[in-house]
Amino acid sequence: MLETLWQWLEGAGIAQVLIASGVGLAVGIAAGRLGRSEGGVRKKGVASKGDKSFFKGIQYLLSDDHDHAIEEFTKSVQVNSDTIETYVALGNLYRSRGDIDRAIRIRQSIILRPNIDQGIKMRAIFDLGKDYRKGGFLNRALKTFLEVARYDPSDVRTLKELERIYEELKDWEKAYETRQKVARLEKGDHRHILAHYLVETGKVAAEEGDMGRAKSFYSKAISTDKGCVDAYLHLGDLYFARQEYKKAISTWKKVAEIAPQFTFLAYRRLEGAYSRMKDLAPVGNFLKECSRSNSDAFTHLALARYLNNESDSEGALAEIEKALELDPSFWEARRFKGEILLDQGREREMLAEYRDIITHLNVSHMRFQCTQCGFEPAELMWKCPQCNRWDTIGLKDVGGPVAEHPA
Ligand SMILES: [Zn+2]
Repeated sequence: MLETLWQWLEGAGIAQVLIASGVGLAVGIAAGRLGRSEGGVRKKGVASKGDKSFFKGIQYLLSDDHDHAIEEFTKSVQVNSDTIETYVALGNLYRSRGDIDRAIRIRQSIILRPNIDQGIKMRAIFDLGKDYRKGGFLNRALKTFLEVARYDPSDVRTLKELERIYEELKDWEKAYETRQKVARLEKGDHRHILAHYLVETGKVAAEEGDMGRAKSFYSKAISTDKGCVDAYLHLGDLYFARQEYKKAISTWKKVAEIAPQFTFLAYRRLEGAYSRMKDLAPVGNFLKECSRSNSDAFTHLALARYLNNESDSEGALAEIEKALELDPSFWEARRFKGEILLDQGREREMLAEYRDIITHLNVSHMRFQCTQCGFEPAELMWKCPQCNRWDTIGLKDVGGPVAEHPA
């Protein structure tokens, strides 16, 4: 709760005020309203009644009682109508409660004040952008954050808000440009994020049928981040669509090298090759190599599918057994086993398999999880929808079954 409050206070721009003055509050945050020198705002005529309400408001906030907090802050501004931080606090409270109209009106009342300090005005415009975003008015939010960015092009917080909106609008090129700006201002490795934007740009080009452009974006993504799995997958798809099967396979193979845990994404694609490629030897060689170096349940199932396609059902069943040894709850492998047994009319073995399934029925497990925030999506996603980080979602149980791969 403390952390939420702190973020909230920071959002309200009153954290600094609270620290700067020194009145202790319940949780050890020093609080006070002795005005702020920052930004040239000076509070005239400190009205003790309004201050009392402000303090009460903060205390209600600390106990998560937003209704009473709003009540007290409203009293506070009635007594002391020139106190900007109370307005900011009220606006943020309304926003957090989803009362976007009220939040917006409060920002506007700050922005329209005559002789307002430019920094405070920009801060209010930033908050207005966040209100718009919360209300789902993406285009208005975009315009608003762009205005703040024009005023202060090196404000990383604003750039990140812009980047998120571009992502939501699927304007990947703008998202890329914005991340480049962030990368110049903030330390850290931004390459994997930049690579994702390039891949997404390439996917759009591919959907529009511009394969040359798509290819150049996938290649640029790989040169930006050698570990970008999605780029190899889609570049491989592109070669495959062009019937350049060898190139497709060698590109998908890269996934097995750089991220063995995601090789199953390449296997799915290989299965599409069975009906279209005349010579399947490269696929077989690839899968056999994988099963030597990377012996997981997915690999054995992929090899089983290959062998079955080559009419080697015994070999296929043997691979399925290896997969099930590693992961008894790998339902996709069980289904495939059932299909083979049914096809061959092996009823007694079907019955034994059925008995085995029953003993494993209680096994259930989630498949993917974000290493940063713990979120468990139903399918693999490159970007965590909860904490908004890229490339943090991995397999929760190695060798577990997988339903779908990301687009
Ligand atoms: Zn997460």
